[in-house]
Amino acid sequence: MNEQRFYISTAIPYVNAKPHIGFALELIQTDAKLRYERLKRGDTNTFGLTGSDENSLKNVRAAEEAGEEIASFVERHAEEMRALGPLLDLSFNDFIRTREERHIKGAQKLWSACKPEDIYKKSYTGLYCVGCEQFYTEKEVPDGICPDHKKPLEKIEEENYFFKLSNYQEQLEELISSDTLRIIPESRKNEVLSFIRGGLEDFSVSRSQERARHWGVNVPLDDSQVMYVWFDALSNYITALGYADDEEMYKKFWVENENRSHVIGKGILRFHAVYWPAMLLSAGIPLPTELFVHGYITAEGEKMSKSIGNVIHPKALVDEYGVDAVRYYFLREIPSHGDGDYSHARMEERYAELANQLGNLVSRVAAMSESYFGGVLSDVDRDWSKEEAVLEAHMKEYDFKAYLDAVFEVVHEANEIVDKKAPFKLVKEDEVAAKQVLSEIADQIRFIGRALKPIIPQTATAILERYGKIIQKGEALFPRRDNV
Ligand SMILES: [Zn+2]
Repeated sequence: MNEQRFYISTAIPYVNAKPHIGFALELIQTDAKLRYERLKRGDTNTFGLTGSDENSLKNVRAAEEAGEEIASFVERHAEEMRALGPLLDLSFNDFIRTREERHIKGAQKLWSACKPEDIYKKSYTGLYCVGCEQFYTEKEVPDGICPDHKKPLEKIEEENYFFKLSNYQEQLEELISSDTLRIIPESRKNEVLSFIRGGLEDFSVSRSQERARHWGVNVPLDDSQVMYVWFDALSNYITALGYADDEEMYKKFWVENENRSHVIGKGILRFHAVYWPAMLLSAGIPLPTELFVHGYITAEGEKMSKSIGNVIHPKALVDEYGVDAVRYYFLREIPSHGDGDYSHARMEERYAELANQLGNLVSRVAAMSESYFGGVLSDVDRDWSKEEAVLEAHMKEYDFKAYLDAVFEVVHEANEIVDKKAPFKLVKEDEVAAKQVLSEIADQIRFIGRALKPIIPQTATAILERYGKIIQKGEALFPRRDNV
């Protein structure tokens, strides 16, 4: 076992449409955590994964509606998803597409590794929502309308394989309540526990070739069936690590690693906290150690939807505000453990905050240091370990907002010193004292730069470069937005 290592993944979204800011939130949160852990543990000890779910029936239907070949349709949308990497300055190590051979082989290997008594065939009639890729019971939806998609469910009758989830009820309850599988935040943990205690029903893990439109991963030893898309999709978390084809890598980041973390949205909690761990238990594979569950984003207080026409795409925001301001907004404005809202007015305010509080501080102090002391200040031996411990504790809880609040306390502190001690006046009376004041502020700014590296990497790097041995002025970090 290796405590030093850290693995983290995002969920893999369907590729039936252009990505919107809801998934951008998840990518940015995961990347911030990944970057933080990477700085702490080193490049070779960390692994971040994202990707796209291409085997869903949803994709098939969206392609049909668009009048396009399925394969080229999913390919195009997967590339749009991948393009979010450079757009949002993400630092994932890998991007897996579930059409890839390594994934298909891995999903089939996982199926075959499950205990034979856990997967059985039976004839089934149920109410299915393609939007959710999920069966509902009549108890859950008495009116036959999907609560999420507000569309009539389809009645489906066929012979499928089922997974004996009921075999794992007690074990799952124990693993989750003991935090062996830690669910963050606590409210989500309680939600899962009450779901488990309500009794677990076996779930269908395959469908007929016909209903799947011959699209998806074939069930091993039974070509008449295609895997239920969730069974195949969930396995990406290990297939990308080489579960089927790279034993060394798979061991390094899954089996012999104590930190295996998934980041997901609240809507797919059951799949990750119940189905997936049960599948792994059946196959004798270690479980994830941590699930961080984020909320949803509305746009100007309303649910984003194509029909309302209020869907916001990340590219539009980055073009307007720059990548770091967008990352900052999502990590500071959106409550890390709950739902949040994207609002144009709040985005403007957050941008102004970056410019006025952080940007100004960095340039004022650099300008003074350069013109009074040629950029050369004295060393300061302030101990930052207390502040670092606070940041570490917030990161452990995936509380990016609290993390940033703590960093900005230091920003405020530094601004206050500039205002109160006024080095621009002091320098005329007492050069030594002015130099000391600037040195202390420069030390604070370096701390701020280090702390912001996982959050707004480009800005942080620029700060640290300017505040090297010889402090230098530079371009405004967040230029004034005059035309708004
Ligand atoms: Zn639905």
